[in-house]
Parts: sequence; C-alpha cells; structure tokens
Amino acid sequence: MTDGAPVTTIVDAEVAGTRVDVRIERGRIERIGASLPRSGTRLVRAGGGALLPGLHDHHLHLLAMAARDRSLDVGTVADPVGFDLRLRAAHERLPDGEWLRVVGYDEAHGPLHPDRLDQLAPGRAVRVQHRTGAAWLLSSTGATVAGLEPHTGWRHRDDERLGRSWQGDAPPDLAAISARLASYGVTGVTDATPSTEPEAFETLATARARGELPQRVVVTGAPALASHRPPDGLEAGPVKIIVADHDLPDPDLLATWFQVAHRAGRPVAVHCVTRVALVLALVAWEQVGAVPGDRVEHASVVPVELVGPLASLAVQVVTQPAFIHAHGDRYLRTVDRDDRPHLYRCASLIEAGIGVGGSTDAPFGPEDPWVAIRTAANRRTRGGKVLGAHEAVPARTALDGFLSHPDAPGGPPRQVDIGAAADLCLLDAPLDQVLVEPSSRNVTATWVVGELLRTQM
Ligand SMILES: [Zn+2]
Repeated sequence: MTDGAPVTTIVDAEVAGTRVDVRIERGRIERIGASLPRSGTRLVRAGGGALLPGLHDHHLHLLAMAARDRSLDVGTVADPVGFDLRLRAAHERLPDGEWLRVVGYDEAHGPLHPDRLDQLAPGRAVRVQHRTGAAWLLSSTGATVAGLEPHTGWRHRDDERLGRSWQGDAPPDLAAISARLASYGVTGVTDATPSTEPEAFETLATARARGELPQRVVVTGAPALASHRPPDGLEAGPVKIIVADHDLPDPDLLATWFQVAHRAGRPVAVHCVTRVALVLALVAWEQVGAVPGDRVEHASVVPVELVGPLASLAVQVVTQPAFIHAHGDRYLRTVDRDDRPHLYRCASLIEAGIGVGGSTDAPFGPEDPWVAIRTAANRRTRGGKVLGAHEAVPARTALDGFLSHPDAPGGPPRQVDIGAAADLCLLDAPLDQVLVEPSSRNVTATWVVGELLRTQM
C-alpha cells in the first residue's frame, strides 16, 4: 500500500478555491504558490481536484472494526428466519472448536436466548453482539468456555472480562482497517472505546510501531485510566464516560468521574443516547464545570429545551449522521413520536453555537465518513425516507466537522497551510462539484505525515 515516496512532492490542486502548487517535504506542507519549481520533485497532477486536510473521524472503535471483519454480520438481515439461516450456514462452514462471532443482532431477528443459539449451532461457542455493541449473548457452550453459567442472559458492557475467553482469536488485521480508512481520506481517528485496562492500548500501539496503522490515533479509555499515559504512538484524548441506560449512574458518581478526568488534565467524552442520559450529564457538568474539549458522544436525542444549556456550557457534540441512513427506517418504526424531531440534531446545535464534530462510530455505523457527510445534508434513510429535514446542514458544514481538530470536534476546520503536517486528502474534482453528491469515490490520494498511503491516480 505504501508508496516509497520521494523526499519532495508537489501537488497541483485546488486549495480553498484556488489552483496552486503545494510542496510537501519532510512530512510538512513546505510551500504553497502559483507555480513552484518542479525539478527534482515528484509531481502529482490533480487536474484541479481539491486538496483538503485529511479527515479525522472523531469516534470509532478500531479493534471492534477489525473483529467485525471476522464476524457474521446479520445487520442487513430482515427477520428471524433470515437470522436462523445465516447462523446455521456460518456454523456449518466453520471448523469445530472455533468461536462463531455474530454482530448486528437486533430485536427484528426475534427474541434471542442461549437455547436458540444451541439449536442453530449445536456444540458451538457462539457469541452474538447486540447491534449497539453494548451487550453480548452467549450460547451454552460459549458461556461454558467463558467460565459462566450456561444460561447466562445478555451481558452488558462486559467486553474486557469476556474478551479473555476469546483471546485465541486471530490477531486483528489493523493494516486492512488502515487501508480502508485511507480510501476515505481519513488520516486520523479518535478511538472512543471505554477501555479499563492499559493492555487495551497495546495492540494499537504495536500496529502503529509496525507501520500497519499510519493514521494518527487518539485514544480515550474509561475514568480508571484517566491518569494513564498511553504507549508511544498513541495520543491521550478525552476520558470516555458511559451514561448507560440499562444502569444509570448515580449523579454524584458521574460528577466524580468528570472531576477525575479534569484533574488529570483531560476533557470528557460522555456517551449519551437518551434524554435521561443527557439530563444526567448536564447535571454533572453544572456541578463541576466544563473544560475545553468536553463533549457529548452521539447526542442521539436532544430535546429542544436542552440545546440552550448545552450551548451555555460550551461543550461540543460528536454526532453520527449516518445512523439516519443506516437505522433511520427502524427509528421511524420504533422511536417514540415525541423523540423523533430530536434525533441526531445537527443544524439546530450549530445555530446555537455548539461545535458539532463528525464521526462514524464504526463498526456500529457505516465506516465511510462520506456517507455521514451525504446524510447530514439529505437526512435520508436507506429506504429513501427523510428524517428530521429541519436538522439538515450543507455538505460543506458536515465535511468541516470531519476536518476539525481532534481536541476540538466541531471547532474551526484545519486548513492546508504552510507548516501544517502533510495529512492530506486529494479529491478528483473541485470541492464544490464533489459536495453536490459527496462520495469517497472522489478520494484519489491520501497522505499521512507526507507519506502517500493510497493513490488512484
Ligand atoms: Zn462508539
């Protein structure tokens, strides 16, 4: 994938609406000018295509993405019959003794209990992840392997403990993830996994050290790791705090977690997917105050009366417009009519002065940020319905959410400027043209710190 890049590259491209030469040297943008001397350089003729800062995905889960690549994904299966067929077929294909990992289960696939899994895959250790990623159900054999009661129910947010039972799985292929991210022009990510053990960062650090994951990686981790410095190659981002709806935290405990993070010099990233979770988070913020970089993750439901308080705290929102695309048809069927106008707000938050950072929540949402950019603008579900048209924003605004700095999601977009790190995304046409129907098909080259990761030219 990596192209042995010569020391100096010149890209002849559109930057901020003007056709210029951009000279990349030693990982930085060294010069920008109308026509720079080109001898002894590698010239990339973009033909007027736009050169942008590389996209930063403000919320995803790298190891879960790698695990999904090795899983049976039932996310697009419509009904219980389809679920059973797919699971049985996967069981029959898999060698004896291996775990069958299933992702994307939701209630449309019918009630799930260990007996059903045992019937579909007799004698097999099966683990099924709920669509949200927040819970697992194990077959009897799976539970036994994991040292649990054979008929244990759904296990919520227990990944690290459960994970020890499937340590024998093949190692994650992060190089494949990195290559896909490069194909979308993504040069940096914030991994929003609420890990509680420092070892959780080692796999990512090792992949970085081996050159398998050249993108910039910001990690979060749970409050227990607030003072833990991540290993070389990874950057400490906000502390991830889960306001779990199945087990709402005590408001004082929540406030204490915020303080632990702030005292460690880190902002918080607070997972809120319901009204009540958001109310609790706001109460905690009102108690302990907000620091720059504090953010609400998802903000799936923001009742209009909470927009003002969010704005006055100056916290940011890291949203996932592509959930409207991927799950909007289900929201229209199942979400309370009262909550629908408040789903995945974008325009009203920005109007209130709240920074809105772009993200995908991959693998729980579509991993291509251009799907999110497109959906932020058209608010269309996969089935073609429009959800929350009043929250649509121009595609340029949605793109800017992915160009904002990892420390300030939704803050000012990074620029292609002299001296900036050469983390760049090249498109095949001028930006205005691409934004009419934004797509990652328009990405033709991606550089991280001046290294060409991908080119279609
Ligand atoms: Zn997430």
